[in-house]
Parts: sequence; C-alpha cells; structure tokens
Amino acid sequence: MGNMISIAKNIVENSETSTTYATNGDISLQAASQVKLRSTDKIIYDKYQAPEKKEKELKQFLVHFRRPAGYKGEYGFDWLRDDYIYAINYVELDNNGAPCQSVVPLANDVAAVKNEYTKEVKSPIKPYGKDYYPAWLSLFPHTTAQQFKHGSSMNKNGAQLDLELEEIEDVISDGTEIIFESKNPNLKVTPQKINIAALMGSGKQTRYRPGGQPVKFYLLKGGINVVNTDAPLQQHEEIKVYAKLGDKKEEVGKLMVYNNHIIPKMELVLVKVGTQANSVSTIDQQLIKDLEYQFKRSSFNQALIRAEIKADTTFETGVLPLTDTGVTNFWNNVLGGSGRFNTDQFLKDVIALYEKYGQHKPAGGRINADANKRTYIFLTDLPASYLQGLAAGEGDIMKEFVWGNAYVVFLSGLKNRRTLLHEAGHSLGLQHTFSAGEPLVGLKPPPYTLYQGYTDNIMDYTWQLNRNPNPYDSNDSMRSFFKFQWDIMRQDRSLILNY
Ligand SMILES: [Zn+2]
Repeated sequence: MGNMISIAKNIVENSETSTTYATNGDISLQAASQVKLRSTDKIIYDKYQAPEKKEKELKQFLVHFRRPAGYKGEYGFDWLRDDYIYAINYVELDNNGAPCQSVVPLANDVAAVKNEYTKEVKSPIKPYGKDYYPAWLSLFPHTTAQQFKHGSSMNKNGAQLDLELEEIEDVISDGTEIIFESKNPNLKVTPQKINIAALMGSGKQTRYRPGGQPVKFYLLKGGINVVNTDAPLQQHEEIKVYAKLGDKKEEVGKLMVYNNHIIPKMELVLVKVGTQANSVSTIDQQLIKDLEYQFKRSSFNQALIRAEIKADTTFETGVLPLTDTGVTNFWNNVLGGSGRFNTDQFLKDVIALYEKYGQHKPAGGRINADANKRTYIFLTDLPASYLQGLAAGEGDIMKEFVWGNAYVVFLSGLKNRRTLLHEAGHSLGLQHTFSAGEPLVGLKPPPYTLYQGYTDNIMDYTWQLNRNPNPYDSNDSMRSFFKFQWDIMRQDRSLILNY
C-alpha cells in the first residue's frame, strides 16, 4: 500500500498497530508505527503499511516420532537416521577394509535407504515439499484370549515415544494445535492433541547436517503414547499428524505401525555342552535366567515373534562312547589345543552328536532340516580366541546350511547378551548390517548396508574396522532390529505359525 490520503472528517482507522480518530479536524492518534500529519484537513500515512487483515499464519514445521533414550528393545522402533544418508561420521576403512578416510553417509546406497523407508508407507506425504520418512513402530496387540489368541500383555501400556518438532521456519507459541489421528479404533494415540507451547517448552535445540546446515528442533520426551488393544492390526496402520491454526490445517507427520495379526513362535532349546568336569556349572546362571526375558521381551519381540525356551538342558559329552568315531573326532578337535581348535568343526560335530545322543533332539532327526522348528543354542565354556559365537551358515563348513537352526556360543560370549541374540538373528536368516550378501542360495539380501560398527543394531559388530569401538556397545545399548530385519526374520522356516 502506498501513501494514503484521507479527508479528516469522520474517520476511524483500526489496525493492530495504530488507531486514529479524527472528527472535523480534531485528531487523536495512538500509533505503533510512523504516521505523519501534514495539514489540518488531510492525513497522510507516510511509508506506513497498514496491516492486511488476514488469518494467523500457520508456521511451517514437521513432526517426527522418535525412540526415547533408555530404550531397551521392549518394542520395535525404526527410522531413517540422519547419518545413514548425510555425511556425518568419519569412516576410516570401508567394509572391505579399503581406505575410506572421509566423512560419509553410513549407507553405501543412499537411494536404497530412502526407498526402503518409503515403501509400504500408507498415503505418503511431502509436507511443504520436504521429503518425509515415517518412523515404524511394532507392538504386540493387548487382547484377551477370546479377542485374539496370540495377543499379549507385553505391550499393554503401549510405547511412550518422544516427539520431535523440526522447524522449517521459526515457530511461535501462537496456539497452533498438533493433532494425532488414528483411523483404526484399536490403535490408540494419547493425547490426541498437543498445543505447540508444550513442545516449545522443551527448548529449541540445534543439530547440524553437512555443510553446517542447522536443523532446529524441539524434543518433547515421552510426549505421546501409542497402544494397540482389543484386536490386532490386520495391515500396516498409520497415525497421521496435523498442525492446525484457525482454519489452516496441514499434515506434517506420520507414524507407521506394523501389522500384528500373525505372531510367529520361535522355540529355543538351550543346551549347555559339558566338555570337562565343572564346565557346565561355570556357565553364567544369571545369563541363563535372563535369557528368556531377553529373547522374548527385548529383541525378537520387535519382529513380533514370540520366543520361548522350551528346554534348558545339559549335554555331557564326557560320557559318550569313544567307540563312536563322531565322538573321537569331536574330542580330537576339542583337545587339539587352542591353535588347532576349529570352531566350525565344533559346531558341526556338536550338532551331529546331539542329533544322535541329545535328550531333546528334534523329532525329525536333523537339526538343520526344514521339518525342525526349534533353534538349538549350544553353550560351551571352551575358549575360541576372540570368537564369541558362531551360527550355522556363518563359518566355512557350515555354509551348506543357509542360516541353520543351531548356533554355538563360546566362552567370551557367555556373559554377553548381545552375542546370544546376534547368533539367533543369524539363525533367523539375518546377515550382518554391513555385509552386502554372500552368495548363499536362498538368502534374501538386505535392502541396504551400513558401515560396520556405527549402529545400535544387534546384527552389527561391537567394533569398527579400524578397531574403534562401536559407540553403542559401551553402554550396552545395541538392542535394535531394523524394520527390514523384522520382515526377513518373520519369514524364517523355523518359525511356528499354527499354535
Ligand atoms: Zn555374526
């Protein structure tokens, strides 16, 4: 608006910034902006922009669901982490051991990662033209046996998640409401509405993307609860997030929730292998005690697999007949001295011996046969140098079994929760997060790979190739399986679907 001239007879101007009253030349003025009076009969608003009458503007921002600190694996939660696709971490050696020596995205193929976190998303969104990758949550349905026989009380309190408001422009406490909407009545989100002031109360934080590009955000810890009750989800569901101010409403976020109407069961047989006097009793009893909890409520539950230890047993090899060449071969390997102990051979031998003499041998005879629906965990206090555990499929000899149904945990892995879960992950068809896929028949290659030792994934290693430790290992927080791993594990041949 340019200069404005008014005849000062009866004028009342009201605006947010100034008020002018004029009656027959008598003018009283309250102004927050520049107003000049140049004559007794004319009022000139010089360089004054009268405020346009308009709706309050909805500030632009995105809302993300995030996993709270202190997560212990009690439900599945996965999202596209910034450092997968942005050059944030320094990587010295690539996964082949060749020099990388630069700050790079952790994913070798950024497009593949983006694709993975876009696929299966219900009604994808692109708020304000920005790429948006919803996080994924998996929860056991909390049902009565009548409502759904494979329900559980495991996640009866749902997941208490953090909310991140990522600014596109500076937000203000203008009464904007953030609204959460689930169309499925069995998928409940609480609260359904949060005032932007509650999020802003957490204080603005900044993190940086490459080139010093700041990402400004607010994080409301434990701000939102998601629970599934009364009936399972027949398909992947979504929780939509809207920002609303006056008549303006924009979809600014989304959470995907994994379908949970099929809950496969994983049966475990825990075999403590005795190879010398007292060896069985040296196996950490607290670990064994915690093991079912770890399998059931802190790892495979993320893939909505119900793990159960069906037998906890010992297998004393010292009493096996030495007339059996299988037995003498086993002992020759075990007693061969540390330099000659062949871990692949040990796993192969112990499987064969257990199939022959074991108390809980599989009904069909062979552990690594399709008919066997149980996973055998052989625990031994035999040292195997740095090797903590070995799964069928992993070692050279065992490659004939595409991630079989048995694994062994050696001395250094016995006190290690992650090793026990890691090897079980192999036996459910998972590769390492950093291996692009060995040419094993029947093996489903992962959709993307990351550099070794930078993630909290159970299938990652606890060290990087330059021997720096994985930062998540130091406080025992390597507790996650990624969404694509949920997909793979749920297809494993050893799982029981009808029970
Ligand atoms: Zn491994």
